[in-house]
Amino acid sequence: METPFFEVTHYINGEFVNSPLQFEKLYPATNQVIGTVAEGKQAEVDRAVSAAKNAFKTWGKMSASERRPILRAFAEGIRKNAAELARIETFDVGRAIRENNIHYIKRIANNIEYFADFAALHGSESYPMDSGYINYVLRQPVGVAVLITPWNIPMLLSTWKIGPALAFGNTAILKPAESTPIGAWKLAQIAHEAGVPAGVFNVVQGFGPNSAGAYLTSHPDVRLISFTGETSTGQAILKAAAGTNMARVSFELGGKGPNIIFDDADIERALAISQKAAFVNQGEVCLAGSRILVQRGIYNEFVERFAAKLTNETVIGDPLDPATTMGALNSREHLERVMGYLEVGGYEGKLLIGGDQPDLPAPFNEGNFLNPTIITDVVPSCRVCQEEIFGPVVTILPFDEEDEAIQIANDVKYGLSAVVQTGNTGRAIRVSNQIDAGTVWVNDWFVRDLRVPFGGMKASGVGREGGHYSMEFYTEMKNVCIANQ
Ligand code: NDP
Repeated sequence: METPFFEVTHYINGEFVNSPLQFEKLYPATNQVIGTVAEGKQAEVDRAVSAAKNAFKTWGKMSASERRPILRAFAEGIRKNAAELARIETFDVGRAIRENNIHYIKRIANNIEYFADFAALHGSESYPMDSGYINYVLRQPVGVAVLITPWNIPMLLSTWKIGPALAFGNTAILKPAESTPIGAWKLAQIAHEAGVPAGVFNVVQGFGPNSAGAYLTSHPDVRLISFTGETSTGQAILKAAAGTNMARVSFELGGKGPNIIFDDADIERALAISQKAAFVNQGEVCLAGSRILVQRGIYNEFVERFAAKLTNETVIGDPLDPATTMGALNSREHLERVMGYLEVGGYEGKLLIGGDQPDLPAPFNEGNFLNPTIITDVVPSCRVCQEEIFGPVVTILPFDEEDEAIQIANDVKYGLSAVVQTGNTGRAIRVSNQIDAGTVWVNDWFVRDLRVPFGGMKASGVGREGGHYSMEFYTEMKNVCIANQ
């Protein structure tokens, strides 16, 4: 099938606008140029913030029930465009299209619909006093929200922010990652067609650190920043906001998730969950269970069967082919970074499988593909066990006792998510309660309920989003205290 060519623009104040500067969009599977992208600078950022500030005067005053049908139409538009969105996400990310299935697109739409409903259906508290005075709490929109997303799961992560930001009455500017601009532009088209008023939702494209992202986060009229990306970028944003707008922040940052498998776990299931947890989206997932810890009694069996499973079941190649199970890493630069971890010196252990690129026919021989990789015989303190590699690479280590597993699991700077696999409920609870992670999955991975708090501990984040936790972040609380005489 012919690869389309995308002319990707910003979306500001209800219009699709270009910039004097443009950059190229490459397809991760071939490194061919598949589009041009408008590059936002200070001027575009100023226009978008001013449009959002102006639109806030109306959108912020509408009731959540009035906003609800508009946002529901946006969600419906996402569902209607499912096939095109699935292809776009593959062109943006490089992920195998079979992972952009109907379930994935539904999750994108639900991110908008759920918060539209939540905001409309939710009340607020009142606190009557013995003296007869009464307090009531209002939750009012904050203002102009800046939403900055990474390149790994762009549509899911951006709608996870757009939904609550707009539903609670804020106006928003989305800044997608430079390598995944197409999906944000397409979402803007869907929002436009759904009747989201001009200026309520804007997209500004940008390129790198001295570009739209940096200008947005330091703009004086921005009141709120929701950011997902690397811990070091989060630190830069925190500094920028502290010195300028003092915007409230919510950060979802990097991870290095442990996947702890006890010898009482169902090993068949543990193998399947471990494969999913580490290799979905080529391992480019903040929640990846990339540090597998296996109890000694089943260690050898697990390692042998896991290596065979990955070797036999992974089909790498054309991401648009429904038979492909693993696509390309997002950029050549990122592939080199991941492979850098696999060079001698990154670890002192054994490269059991992978570490190399698959042999593919043209044009995919130019793509950023990497075979699934297992490293064993490493100590927990080495770089590959400590740093977020963000690719199809796992380390597998043995442990003897529960306490040792918990200690290894917690001995990293991150604390985003963990997997615990065991057939013993008491053990599941004991271990889960002691792990430093914002989310622990027992006997599964990446199961999401939009009501639960999502975010990370330690270097993995600041704050939580989801359900009423999103409401806390995306609204200002105001207490009104009324005298009874
Ligand atoms: P980056 O931090 O490099 O980039 C994220 C976004 O921030 C991009 O849109 C980027 O723009 C923008 N940006 C870069 N510099 C600045 C700046 N100074 N000010 C404002 N914005 C800026 O992350 P990646 O895109 O590389 O994504 C991978 C990271 O995201 C991993 O660490 C991963 O763990 C994390 N992540 C965390 C998740 C979570 O929920 N905790 C979920 C998914 C990913 P540009 O692309 O133009 O440079």
